[in-house]
Amino acid sequence: MYSFIESQKGSKGLLYENNLYRLQKNNKNGTSRWVCTNRKCSSSLTLKKEKIYKVRGIHKHNNVRRSLSITNVVKEIREEVCINVSKPITQIYNETVSQYVNRITLLFFLYRYYI
Ligand SMILES: [Zn+2]
Repeated sequence: MYSFIESQKGSKGLLYENNLYRLQKNNKNGTSRWVCTNRKCSSSLTLKKEKIYKVRGIHKHNNVRRSLSITNVVKEIREEVCINVSKPITQIYNETVSQYVNRITLLFFLYRYYI
């Protein structure tokens, strides 16, 4: 069981088992490939005739619902600052906050259709 999510910018997301995927490509044989929206994660899934056909990889990160908490966002910023020492903190902050805004959009979706 999965759900489609439309972001405010019009890009399409797919929610499956509390993880969010974005469309990577539509294949000529009618299948489509979706990849996890977490940049560090390489999990993906394939849809065939609107059904989950294949799931690849393991998510080693918090799922969507857990990552909605502000505590986790702050933690993520801290971790990112440690990993990317050369990256300006303001940039990391802006990126993480915009990701958080996307998650809020998702939260509304979850309340309306999913929970
Ligand atoms: Zn993932």
